[in-house]
Amino acid sequence: MKARDPIADLRRIAFLLERANEATYRVRAFRSAAKALAALPAAELAERAAAGTLTELAGVGDVTARCVAESIAGEEPVYLRRLLATEGSDLDAEATALRTALRGDCHTHSDWSDGGSPIEEMALAAVELGHEYVVLTDHSPRLTVARGLTAERLRRQLDHVEKVNAALPEGFRILTGIEVDILADGSLDQDEELLARLDVVVGSVHSGLNDERSKMTRRMLTAIANPHLDILGHCTGRMVSSRPAGVTGPGDRGHRARSRKESDFDANAVFAACAEHDVAVEINSRPERQDPPKRLIRRALEAGCRFAINTDAHAPGQLDWQRFGCERAARCGVTADQVVNTWPAEQLVDWARGHS
Ligand SMILES: [Zn+2]
Ligand SMILES: [Zn+2]
Repeated sequence: MKARDPIADLRRIAFLLERANEATYRVRAFRSAAKALAALPAAELAERAAAGTLTELAGVGDVTARCVAESIAGEEPVYLRRLLATEGSDLDAEATALRTALRGDCHTHSDWSDGGSPIEEMALAAVELGHEYVVLTDHSPRLTVARGLTAERLRRQLDHVEKVNAALPEGFRILTGIEVDILADGSLDQDEELLARLDVVVGSVHSGLNDERSKMTRRMLTAIANPHLDILGHCTGRMVSSRPAGVTGPGDRGHRARSRKESDFDANAVFAACAEHDVAVEINSRPERQDPPKRLIRRALEAGCRFAINTDAHAPGQLDWQRFGCERAARCGVTADQVVNTWPAEQLVDWARGHS
């Protein structure tokens, strides 16, 4: 039998585990093994697999070594086969049409803030998913718990992204961006000059989520009117503990389900402002967020808003969570022409630039 690419198989397993919301340490075992083995010459890899000495290498355990040996022997690793057999449910036709129409993702994190993986890893996973772009939206300075980027670090990130982009396959691009905190007074937590320079700006409320209704409404309206804001992130801030169909496995270890009620704001006013300023309302696909809830997606639709169906991925496998957002969007009657990340990168960037 023809040998498979064992590194690709390990990375595929990590991806599927993340997508299934499995605990981080399990995913990490496969990613570290892939990294360790990728550094090895192919001949040595084959030799070690044959001699059973792969586990002598740092980062390679029994399970990962077995996967590699199976790959090299030309068999689909049992671990991978099992994961593929138990993965997600089918999307219905409308949701599938939406998912197919998406060309990218406008809300993703890397290990520069609170994500778990380097920018390069996130980009490669996005390429594999068939995306044409991802917007890198690490957190802003005041979100210190998430290692938000100071202006200086963000500037360094922009230089880094330029280098990473140059090495990525033709036809794919990392767009620059930020998930900027909407501060208590509705201002955005990053230098004006930097916000203007970024391709896409997502703004989210992460603090004072229990602000009383009129205060929260004012805060959001101020942010929406800010010419730098392009997308309003997870607008209610809610956390739900339920898990949508298709996310299987124990997974709650390290993702302890905590619920949080929706922030209270005047949704009619907020969505009317989004429509007026052409700010897209994010449909956040994270299983624990599912934000906004369907009744508010419908309200935004009636107000004439555009949408962005984003994953808010903090790890490569989570980039595939868009299907959850698509399912919810489709149930509410959102169509592809209303979703900004169905556009090619150029159009998205032009639209965002049109705001400021
Ligand atoms: Zn956020
Ligand atoms: Zn985020």
